[in-house]
Amino acid sequence: MPWVDVHMHLIGGRGDFGGAVENAVRTMDRFGIATAIILPPPQVDSQPSTHDHTSYASALRRHPGRFAFLGGGGTLNATIHRYADPAHVTEQVKRDFAATAERILAAGASGFGEIASLHISATLGHPYEFVPADHPLLLVLAEVAARRDVPIDLHMDAVEGEMPTPPRLAGGANPTTLPGTIAPLGRLLAGNPKTKIVWAHGGSDPLGAMTPATIGRLMDAHPNLHVSLRIVGAQAPMQNKALAAGGLDPAWAQLLARHAERFVIGTDSFIVAPSVQGSGPGITFAQRNEPKLQATAHFLSLLSPEVARKVGRDNATRIYRLTVR
Ligand SMILES: [Zn+2]
Ligand SMILES: [Zn+2]
Repeated sequence: MPWVDVHMHLIGGRGDFGGAVENAVRTMDRFGIATAIILPPPQVDSQPSTHDHTSYASALRRHPGRFAFLGGGGTLNATIHRYADPAHVTEQVKRDFAATAERILAAGASGFGEIASLHISATLGHPYEFVPADHPLLLVLAEVAARRDVPIDLHMDAVEGEMPTPPRLAGGANPTTLPGTIAPLGRLLAGNPKTKIVWAHGGSDPLGAMTPATIGRLMDAHPNLHVSLRIVGAQAPMQNKALAAGGLDPAWAQLLARHAERFVIGTDSFIVAPSVQGSGPGITFAQRNEPKLQATAHFLSLLSPEVARKVGRDNATRIYRLTVR
């Protein structure tokens, strides 16, 4: 069954996003991906070459029906984190922010992303970012998204209460204690029940609190919560994985059957243009594309045909209002 990947990044270096798009098409054809949603990673002002959808939107149009895109990861997200202290969020800041969001949709975006609440730094050059999910500018974005019926792709590493940073992630850009994120997410979801939130990276959790039980509890309480699944192999150093050594994890299998309308596939693949040389977080992450895409195809094959059709294609088509070939 051809499927939809709602979370794919392009690494175009200094302006070769066209080359990355051609590589993306080759990858999609190999793994049965009919349509991919391209989105800019959640960037902040301190990063060297921030980009947003304007870098690649025209290159995507060379392949009608294969792509949609989200915007804001390079602009809206940078603004949110620049104004991390809510005391600095004036009415004028809110108005300008909402106007930027509207311009992104006017340019053809299917929604907003990748927007970060808690984004832990996984490697050198990969930023630590935090605002609670109910930060005032996220509430503004939620209002625009609800009014325009588009989703927000939210990167929020899951922490209940607060926790010491695990030794594997200590040092570098991360603080010694990580703030709680689950309670603010509940407030974001309840604050505007019409806003479709797609919480990214279910099924490969670096910290441990993004459990099937927590996702299920939040989905029971909030019909506007969706989760995109980043499926990794049983060997990957992640927690709460949907794929166990022997097949589907039973808790995940139950949750997927119970809330089959709420899950989509978002592989978080990083597709690099052939001309891009050197190193960086995106190039490091790109080395994981192959095993992730293989694991995803295997995962879909383990679901019942009905659940596979919903999770692999139909939910994405509905939530992002896509036209899939
Ligand atoms: Zn992410
Ligand atoms: Zn991502």
